Amino acid sequence: MEFLNKLGKKASETYQVTKEKAVNLSEELKLRGKISEYKEEIVKNYKDIGEIVYNEIKNNNDVSKEAVTSKCEEIDKANDEISKLEVQLLALKKVKKCINCGAELDIDAEFCSKCGNKQPVVEKVEVKEEPSDTKEAEVVEVNNVEENKEENKQAEDEGKDN
Ligand SMILES: [Zn+2]
Repeated sequence: MEFLNKLGKKASETYQVTKEKAVNLSEELKLRGKISEYKEEIVKNYKDIGEIVYNEIKNNNDVSKEAVTSKCEEIDKANDEISKLEVQLLALKKVKKCINCGAELDIDAEFCSKCGNKQPVVEKVEVKEEPSDTKEAEVVEVNNVEENKEENKQAEDEGKDN
């Protein structure tokens, strides 16, 4: 029996790890997908800027700063988002990069083991599990308990009659 118990425990542990890996993989794909979207956006904005400049030069006009500024801002915004997503990607692997030297550190590290620089706290990425479903399941369980109590009471009452 002891052997079987150990075997069962090991199997469920393996299942947990596999499940966690699968969740991490799909989360990683999601993050990578978002990063490529932002990269495409950046390429598009560079192209737009190029077109604006090209047309102004071709028509012998001065390039208006205003026309390209909003495009530049969009590029900056997309780059900021990409940096955040990259931090989340690393967090999935329970690591982060030193803000000073770029060394790979444990996610909870307060200081860099290489250069000693103090590190900001990385917010952990929570994998969301449909909270509404969990709540419904709990409610159903509670209802069942109530029903069981009622049935037990009835059974007791019937018992008294006899
Ligand atoms: Zn460092």
